[in-house]
Amino acid sequence: MSNTARNDCDINNGNKKRKRKEKKEDIIKNKKARGLEHINHMNKLVPARKSGPDCRCKRFKCYTKIDTRQREMILMNFNDIGNKNEQDAYLLGLMSASPTARHTVNNPQRFRLSSFSYKIRIGLDETVVCLTAFCNIHGVTIGRTRRLQDLMATNIPSPRDQRGKHTENRAKKAPECILNLIRYHISSFPARQSRYSLRDNPNCYYLDEELSVTEMHKLFLSMYHINVSFMVYWSILKKEYKLKFGLPRTDTCAVCNSYNLSIKCAALPETVRILQTEHKLHLCKAEKFNEIKRTKRKSTARKMCMLEFRLHAKLTITTYKNRRCLLCKTALVLCIWHT
Ligand SMILES: [Zn+2]
Ligand SMILES: [Zn+2]
Repeated sequence: MSNTARNDCDINNGNKKRKRKEKKEDIIKNKKARGLEHINHMNKLVPARKSGPDCRCKRFKCYTKIDTRQREMILMNFNDIGNKNEQDAYLLGLMSASPTARHTVNNPQRFRLSSFSYKIRIGLDETVVCLTAFCNIHGVTIGRTRRLQDLMATNIPSPRDQRGKHTENRAKKAPECILNLIRYHISSFPARQSRYSLRDNPNCYYLDEELSVTEMHKLFLSMYHINVSFMVYWSILKKEYKLKFGLPRTDTCAVCNSYNLSIKCAALPETVRILQTEHKLHLCKAEKFNEIKRTKRKSTARKMCMLEFRLHAKLTITTYKNRRCLLCKTALVLCIWHT
């Protein structure tokens, strides 16, 4: 294959990361933040965020001061923020706290230390509103506002989204013994290190190319009959192990790689056919060499020793096992007979 063709192939095929599908939880989170209609984790339809009804308060007369068009504008701007943390910071900026002047309950244990006031910002104008109107106009629950009040009382300036991040009270968390079983199962797969890029990836191990996380999870289920979700299995493998599937590019057969790229890039069916035939020939040669090596290795056990020299460093040809082939020219096999 010419150099130009190879470069084209690299541009077309190389250095492109596989696009990952967006996670279901992220899709739900984003739609929720943007106030769009969505189906939640319980498979229930959640309608789009909309303003709540009139607060009918006599103190501020909130809905009289802010007309429908302005309320729609506020809700639209709030939805456009599209991120829960930023929305919370925005809401926090519209709230202010002051020491409680007068307690309305008799029980001192239920005394609130601070009282809060709320405002709505339209352009440069700020209008004071009641809590109900504040929640209804932004389409948020009172619970969300209460959480922000607690953060304000404890001097936490920037709210953090804590959904799904709790470490305690996790009823569905897999127990440690099951996690250990998963670790044991992952470790039971034979993993090998890269031969040629060991210095670049010293801690990286490679599993068989026929395997995948899905396959490993299926094997785990069939072996132990414990209902462990794919996500639990996957997260342990991802967080605690540095495993990859197949072989690194440096360990694969250079000739095969070049044929595969040329076949992908070839425009004419005739060229594809020729390349496929040449590749087949290369595989046959490799298989023949493999066969010789196998027979020699068998006889080695009995009456001779076999020395195998890898010549890749000088010949710049790689020799390791690709999907179907072993390249034949790269190893010099020297057999010494026992006397
Ligand atoms: Zn009101
Ligand atoms: Zn090959």
